[in-house]
Amino acid sequence: PEYVLEARDVSKHFTVRGALGRTTVVHAVEDATVRLKPGQILALVGESGSGKTTLARMLARFHEPTSGEIVLRGEAVSRSGRARRGYHSEVQLIFQDPFGSLNPMHRVRYNLDRALRLHHRHLTAAEREERTTQLLERVSLTPAAEFAAKFPHELSGGQRQRVVIARALAVEPKVLLGDEPISMLDVSIRLEMLNLLQRLRTEDGLALLYITHDIASARYLCDDIAVMYAGQMVESGPKEAVIASPQHPYTKLLIESSPDPERGVGDREAFFAGADELGEPPSLIDPPTGCRFHPRCPFAMKECGEQAPPRAELGDGHWAKCWLHARGRAGELADTTHAA
Ligand code: SF4
Repeated sequence: PEYVLEARDVSKHFTVRGALGRTTVVHAVEDATVRLKPGQILALVGESGSGKTTLARMLARFHEPTSGEIVLRGEAVSRSGRARRGYHSEVQLIFQDPFGSLNPMHRVRYNLDRALRLHHRHLTAAEREERTTQLLERVSLTPAAEFAAKFPHELSGGQRQRVVIARALAVEPKVLLGDEPISMLDVSIRLEMLNLLQRLRTEDGLALLYITHDIASARYLCDDIAVMYAGQMVESGPKEAVIASPQHPYTKLLIESSPDPERGVGDREAFFAGADELGEPPSLIDPPTGCRFHPRCPFAMKECGEQAPPRAELGDGHWAKCWLHARGRAGELADTTHAA
């Protein structure tokens, strides 16, 4: 199969019991599709509350989709089917918080050895010891013996995240899902971590889903970008196309509000001069009808509030869901571009 991992039209609804025993349904993800090829880095970009973490957790099988399918190497993963451990030997999730994801009571050696024992039962203790050394070297924690003997609290945040990555690699996965893997690290070491992820892709052909709210790091690391807003995918395509020429007003807002020293500041204000108040992303309990971005969109038309926009195919795998395309008004997006 062309894709190593796919989410096909997945939705996730959570039922939440509130005060007075009343239940409400949160539409966290609606009809999202993600496709990852071996060796591809796809950035999933959106604000907090956009559904990107829920989508990642479905891809990691920590949540089962309410509808839609997760497909691993061409095979639909059924709820009762493939054992979770089998799945996790191919797909590993790296969390944002390296502090919480290691066992603090045990040394690094134990943390890695445990993953090796669980996923490679045939290895002898001596072989696991050797693998542990190799794994630490791969993530540049050297001398390996020294780091293997440390407890998680004796490491810096960046070192801890390297151990987490080493542990994920111990399993020899085909896919890494990184949920904001650098956002809790010092700014000074973020670039190093991105370079490490890039290297793993090149050396191992790992596919990486890089989940972030930060367009700048996505721009640095990825090949392709998918943008989520209020639980839905609104645009996706090759990085160059999406960043140079966003075809959805929300993507444009994200890009223009991300810090870029070459462009200066103030674009966001200029772009949204027509919209009084940007406001917050909408509630997922009672999301807006039609296009979920319409209450914040300066281009909104009558149909935007009534009907979900169709998907416009823009070539080279680039698409956007916005009525501007169906109405021949896409040029207006480009007209608001601020010349570099
Ligand atoms: Fe704006 Fe309408 Fe496009 Fe939604 S569909 S982004 S409201 S123009």
